[in-house]
Formats: sequence, structure tokens, C-alpha cells
Amino acid sequence: MKAIEREEKYCAHNYLPIPVVLVKGEGVWLWDEDGQKYLDMMSAYSAVSHGHGNPRLLKALTDQASKLAVTSRAYYTDKLGMFLEKICKLSGLDKALPMNTGAEAVETAIKAARRWGYEVKGIPDNQAEIIVAHGNFHGRTTTVISFSSEPDYKKHFGPFTPGFKEVPFDDLEAIEAAITPNTAALLIEPIQGEAGIIVPHDGYLKGLREICDKHNVLLILDEVQSGIGRTGKMFAFEHEDVRPDGLILGKALGGGMMPVSAVAGTEELMAVFNPGSHGSTFGGNPLACAVGLESLNILEEEDLVDNSEKLGEYMLNELRGINSPLIRDVRGRGLWVGVDFDPEKVMAREVCERLKQKGVLSKETHDTVVRFAPPLTITKDEIDHGISVLRAVIREIEDK
Ligand code: PMP
Repeated sequence: MKAIEREEKYCAHNYLPIPVVLVKGEGVWLWDEDGQKYLDMMSAYSAVSHGHGNPRLLKALTDQASKLAVTSRAYYTDKLGMFLEKICKLSGLDKALPMNTGAEAVETAIKAARRWGYEVKGIPDNQAEIIVAHGNFHGRTTTVISFSSEPDYKKHFGPFTPGFKEVPFDDLEAIEAAITPNTAALLIEPIQGEAGIIVPHDGYLKGLREICDKHNVLLILDEVQSGIGRTGKMFAFEHEDVRPDGLILGKALGGGMMPVSAVAGTEELMAVFNPGSHGSTFGGNPLACAVGLESLNILEEEDLVDNSEKLGEYMLNELRGINSPLIRDVRGRGLWVGVDFDPEKVMAREVCERLKQKGVLSKETHDTVVRFAPPLTITKDEIDHGISVLRAVIREIEDK
């Protein structure tokens, strides 16, 4: 049986993959089962920022796996403290709690915010509200989809978790108007990724910080996708020199090798957890910590954040320079750019399938946006190659 057939037969159809069977990856390149080579402009939804098979990460992984992989948090290990210390030093926050996937870390942040609301702010029990933005993406658990604005993510998965209020993204006044004495937190992506790489106006994060300070509300930033160098800073909040009370990390934190996520926060926020209040069998395992620590070290030592900033700007300008009636908008920050196509002329899916035919992998988000989010190790020549293929695909569609 062929790989696609087998996967379609045995795997639930909760994705609609681009029809390519990948068998190997190295750096920014992927290979299919026929030996065809592809430029990875997708990086597993921004998780593979260090490039496929990064040698330092492979070493950290195999060294640690052969020593000690999983212990559970029933015991201390020599790795967890080192990993979390690094996260805290980089983010300027005080404590962190390790999880595995992004959605779990979001759940963790929601629990922390609610407890803080009751135990520190004094919100009456079960009344805490968290404000979220329209178009948000924070994961797929039942609670997290409860406050999604995307009907496809919710259909027939109810009943949903109450306690969330939605406001438009990039609208400070709407947030201020939505705050009540029972508001515990704002939960916001600094740049909305899955919504189509939506970049808010300059001053949005600063504005959020001011509103939160004024009303004694926590600012919790979901940087699962925007964090760890993706936007040209280690964390997107650094673009506006603010500090959140809670910071959610995932994806590239695991170096594209392991599911590693974490919530970092202020002492006051993280102090709400006591033994028994939260946990995860695999969260903070030594293997994940060794890989996570090395992933952060590599980012710093190999100037990947700088590369993201410089080449990101280059990529954005080059993409903006493509003059085509098919394109409505090009937006992004760092090595994270969305090209928004006019659905009257072409759907993003068709662009992705044609890119694949020519050896470039991306993936549509919603119907109109093609994302370009390569590993942060990419070079200028490789970006030029990807963009020349995109230009060829656009010409092809224009000439249809
Ligand atoms: N938050 C954000 C901002 C994300 O982009 C994602 C994944 N796209 C998640 C949370 C969920 O992460 P995971 O798929 O690892 O649960």
C-alpha cells in the first residue's frame, strides 16, 4: 500500500495534507520518497526554527536519551532547573512551568490566571473572565476552542467552557470597554498566526500593558508561534519593550525535535500553583529539557534571532515587490510572512499545491493566505530561490 493511501485509511481525516510523502530533512530542505527535494517554507507551523536535523540538537537529544529520558516530576532532575532558568533569564520573568504542547501550556496559563483572579485579585469564585481576541488561535482542547471565533474548530464539540469574552483584535478601546471587576486576564497573540499573520499597529502591546496595569488585569501573551526568534526578536513583546505577566511558549522551544512548551510568569502569578494543582507526566522531562535548553542556546549563540530580523525584512520586501493582481496584501515580521491572495482569482491552496510541484513547501491558512515561515537558519540565496518559485507560480496562474 502506498504511504498516502495507508495514512488516509488508518489516520483520522482531521488534516488535509499537501500531497507529498516526506521521508528526510536536513536544514531548510526536505525530501520525498522519490528523492525529490523541497525548500521548507513552513517549518512545521514554525516549530522547526533550527532547521531539520540540527546537529547540536541531535547531539543534545541522543546524549540525554542515552542517559536519562523520562522520570516524571515525582523526582527532581539535574536538567529542569537549568532549562527553566534559561527561559526566565531570557524573558525577564521569575518562574516557569513546563508542559509539552502549545495547547497544554495555554490551558496552564488559563488555570494560573483564574487562580490569580480568585486568590490575589479577589474575584468571587467561578466568576473570573478572560478577554481574548477575535480570530485567535490558542490550540485545540475543549476549553481553548470554547473561545475560538472559527466555527469549523467548534462545530459539534460543545458544550463549551464559559468565562471568556471576545473583542476585536488590535482594538485597545474594545478591550478597555470589555474589562469588568471580574476580569482576570487578557490572553492575546502579539501577532495572530493562524488567523493569517495579522500584525497589529505599533503601540498595541504597550497599550495592552497600560490597560492591564490600570485595571489590575494580567497580560498573558501566547508566543507559542511568535516567540523564540520567529519575529526577529527572541520574543515578540520585545518589539515594544513591554513585559507580560504570563508568557506561553511552545513549538520552536523543542527545537523541532520534541514537543516542549512552558508558561513563564511573575512570581505572583506562578505562586498560585501548589502541589497537586496541576501537572503532566511528560512535562519537564530531562530529554525535553536538554533539547529545550540547547534550542535556546543555539538561538543565542548562532545569531538566529538576528538572521530572522535581517532576512525577514529582506523576505518581506521581496514578497511585497511581487507585482500581481492576485495578491491583496503581504504582511509579517521577521521570518514570518503571510501573502494574502484574492479568492476571486485564486485560492491559497492552489498556490501551495503549485509551489509543491516546483519544489517549495508551504501551507495555506484559511482560504486566502500562504505563509512563508522557513527555518531561521535559511540563507538569502535560499530565500531568493523560494521567491523565484513563487513568482513562477504566480505567472502560471495569471496566464491560465
Ligand atoms: N498558540 C498559538 C499561538 C499557536 O499558533 C498554536 C499552534 N498553531 C498553539 C497555541 C497550539 O499549539 P499546539 O499545536 O502545540 O497545541
